[in-house]
Formats: sequence, structure tokens, C-alpha cells
Amino acid sequence: MTLIISSTILDDLLRYAKAVAPEEACGLLFGEGRVIQRASPTKNIAVDKQKFFEIDPAALIAAERNMREGGKAIIGYFHSHPAGSVEPSQTDASMAAPDGRIWLITNGDEVAAWQAVANGQIFGRFDPIPLDCDSTNGQTAES
Ligand SMILES: [Zn+2]
Repeated sequence: MTLIISSTILDDLLRYAKAVAPEEACGLLFGEGRVIQRASPTKNIAVDKQKFFEIDPAALIAAERNMREGGKAIIGYFHSHPAGSVEPSQTDASMAAPDGRIWLITNGDEVAAWQAVANGQIFGRFDPIPLDCDSTNGQTAES
């Protein structure tokens, strides 16, 4: 079960996270199955933005409504750890619902994907997921 992200989306996401550092960046991941088709930054409304993130609930509600009306599905969330590793923190684990959604965590040029599950390897909440960066953007390269 590999998660697929295009290099364009990943580059944009990493650039955004670097731009808001030392604050944590956050946002929503849209797609189908295991393919990330869009990463949409949202406001971080946490009080201490350098240590925590909280996705703007208005953005989340709008995305959930759009999804019900036939829009793109929310397959997960992304956030950055400007001063830490790309492993989920204990706080992330306590905030995550075991809903099978993807958690993408970045730090600089590093990125890792996790799935929020009921009995995960990390703090009982997350399992690692291999991430495949598709640099061809879905097109077949002739070699
Ligand atoms: Zn975190």
C-alpha cells in the first residue's frame, strides 16, 4: 500500500512549509484511493504555531461539505515539523482519529507519510506508509 504524490505537488508543499517556518504549516490532502491529487494549505490556528498546528475548522468544514457534494475526497492532512523529525509526535497521536486518513509530515526537504489507525506502531496511532514521488506526473516517460 504505497501512497503516490506528484513531484509538483510535493515541491509546492515543501516550498510552502519552508516559507511559513519556523511556524508549522498545515493543510488538507485531496485525492482518490492512495493518490494525492491536491494539497491545499490552510491557516494554522494553534496558539503556539511553532510547536503545534490546528487546521482552520472553517476550511475543514468547507472541504467536507464539498466532498459530500461530489468534490474531491479528503484523504488526509499535512503539517510540518520545522524543528523536529518527520515522525508523528505524541501530540499528533493524541489529536489523530483512527480513521485511516493519511498524515504527511515534512521538515525542510524531508517528508514521510503515516496512516492514522487504531493500533499503530507509533504511539499506538500511526503506521508508516511508503511514499512514491511520481516525477512523471502520470505521463509515461520514454527511455
Ligand atoms: Zn506534528
